[in-house]
Parts: sequence; C-alpha cells; structure tokens
Amino acid sequence: MNSEHIPRRDFMKQTAGYGAGLGLVGNGARDWLAQAPSPEEKVPRKQLGTTGADIPIILMGGSQKFDPRYDKVLHRAFQLGVDYIDTAQMYAQGQSQKTIAPFIKQIGDRKKLWITSKVKLVGSRATPEGFKANLDKCREDLETDYLDMFFLHMITEERLLGPDYIRMAEELKRAEKIRFFGFSCHDGNVAELMTAAAKAGGGIDAVMFRYNFRQYGDVALNKAIDACKAAGIGLIAMKTQASVPADLEAVVKFQSRNFTLGQAKLKSVWADERIDAAVSGLTNIELVMENTAAAMSPVKLSMDEFMQLNRLAALTAHAHCLGCNQRCEPRANGLGIADMLRYLMYHECYGESEEARALYRALPREARDFEAIDLSDATTACPQGIRIAERLAQARRVLSA
Ligand code: SF4
Repeated sequence: MNSEHIPRRDFMKQTAGYGAGLGLVGNGARDWLAQAPSPEEKVPRKQLGTTGADIPIILMGGSQKFDPRYDKVLHRAFQLGVDYIDTAQMYAQGQSQKTIAPFIKQIGDRKKLWITSKVKLVGSRATPEGFKANLDKCREDLETDYLDMFFLHMITEERLLGPDYIRMAEELKRAEKIRFFGFSCHDGNVAELMTAAAKAGGGIDAVMFRYNFRQYGDVALNKAIDACKAAGIGLIAMKTQASVPADLEAVVKFQSRNFTLGQAKLKSVWADERIDAAVSGLTNIELVMENTAAAMSPVKLSMDEFMQLNRLAALTAHAHCLGCNQRCEPRANGLGIADMLRYLMYHECYGESEEARALYRALPREARDFEAIDLSDATTACPQGIRIAERLAQARRVLSA
C-alpha cells in the first residue's frame, strides 16, 4: 500500500457526494482493497445494449472448473454483485458448465443469476440445427431451463449472422430456452463481423469481443464499435488484460497511487462509455477483491496512467499477439499461428497449462507443423513485430508434452 494511503473508513468520514447511495467514496481501488466492503457494497450495473436488462460492469469469466461443493470464488463474487457468469460448452473440457450447475442451485433462485453460455461450431457443423442441439446440451449440463444469453462462440464466418441464424434465435426465445442472443469473436475479422452484426437489422442483442488498451488506435475496430452502439447491440469486452509474461510486463514499472496494473487495464476499458461490461477471469478471491474494487471505485484513470499503459503496449507489442490472423496466416500456408500464440499466452500468463496443452494438441497437425514453412513473410506482416518462428517453437516446447 502506498504511503499516501488514507484508511478507507477515515476517508469515508471525510467524503460525501459521489456514489453515496452505494457507499462509494472518492478514493482509489487500492484503498478499497485495504478494507472488506460492507455487504451493501456492490459493483455498479449498466444496461446491456437495448435489451432493457442491467448487468454488472464486471462479469465472472467461467473458463475454469469450479468447486461443485461450495465455490468460494463464485460466492464471494456474487456477494459483491457479480451475478453474471460467462461460460462455454468447451471451457475446462466441458467441466465449467457442469460445475456451475451446483452453484445455481446453491443461490436458490435462478432469476438472481445471469448465465451466458457459448457454443463453437465451424464449417458444415455450424448449422441452426447443430447450434440448437448443442444449446440443449448446455442447458442439460448447467441444469437450467434457459440461458440468459446464448452466444455463437469464436465465430469467424459472417454467414452465421444471416437470417437463418437470426430466425433460430427468435425461435429459441419464443421457446424460452434463451432470453438474448449474440456472438463472441476473438481473432481476425472482429471488426468485419461487428459491422455485419450492426447491419443485420435486429436480432443480435450483444457481442463479446477482444478489447483492451492495446487497441486504442484501431480505426476499423472503433468504427465497428460505433456501428454496434448505434444499432443498440450490447458490447462486452474480453481479453482486457492483454497479458504478456510477468517479467516483460515489468519493463514498465507501473506507478499509481490508486490502481494496480490489472485494475488500470480494466479502468481503461470502462473509460470507453460505449462498453457495457468487461468479462474478467476471476480465478481466486484476491482477484475478485482487486477487480471488483476497481469496478466500485469512482476514481478515473489519470492521463499519466493512460500514458503508462500506452508505453506498456508499445514496449511489449512483440510478445502479445493481437489475433489478427488474416495478416500472417495466409502467408504461412494457413498455419494456426494466432491459436498457438493464444494457447501459449494461457500457459505463460494465466497459468492454465493443462487447458493450453489440451487445446494445442487438439489442433490439426497441419495447423501446427511449422518446420517446413517459411515464416519470413508472415513475420514481416505482423504489426506487433512478433518473431513468429521463435514463439511457435516455444509453444511447441511447452505445450506439446
Ligand atoms: S502473429 Fe502478428 S500478425 Fe499474426 S495474429 Fe498475431 S499479431 Fe496478428
């Protein structure tokens, strides 16, 4: 804790005004961490697009397997107002949904929780019938009648935003199997997909997409965000930490009297008023406290803190893949470069080595065998300056075992 820290309760005595209704005070999130919030203190909420539904501005990322007996992280986050869980059929090799099911029962009132799940289907399997069948499997695994949000997961094909899929969603809504519908997109044509969603003329309630401090200057993405906002589509940011390994992140000694680096990254996303919420990998109680504190703190990022994030983005670009695989993969025989670098990030930055290895090994051999491929053109095309051959070799070393 920094030396200028004012104990939170003393500060509360001195402060009135902003956020008083929520018990919020004008100190930073670091101060918030010093004291446990009272039971009335919850993270702020925002309307998701034009759905009419309010959701917390920080959402529980559910990529892990939870403790089915009593998951302390889920319960603590819920107490602090994080009542939105984002899971997917593929998370934790199917175990995420199954281990969220007991938590839903423990809460005791389904309506007190928002459950989003996602199904990834590609190519000829990605039909409305295929998605409907997998949605039923999600509902079965989660032991719930309905999802609050059903996302087509990690889509790259614009055809999945066409009339057949919108009709499918409307049918699922009428059958009360889902309340809202949308999609998530990670790599490559994110801006194009979001632009297409905005033009679809309704039926797409929300989009979850990669968005973080490394993308301030991305003109195409900003235009796509504007288009979705104008179309009333809810905007959920993911991959907000844009992580690189800890030793590299330390090249910028982030200094702030109010925020940790992780909190500042979240704050930089919430500073964009177009964004409704950010999903966060709350894998332990400390992260729950740290990130909800950032959400509750009314203090905004200073210009200096924004500049430090900009410097971090510039100095660590070579170690962070943006997922713009349309630039490199066509120059590398369609090798799965972005996928492999993402799995390497799961291992290096999130400690999710088991999941990363499983995903890596699930890639078709032709998508990961890079030795015979000349990667020089792909490396030249990379806007991040990533030494692709070196990083793929590292991915193979640590993930193929
Ligand atoms: S390696 Fe470079 S070009 Fe390829 S997806 Fe990553 S950032 Fe984009």
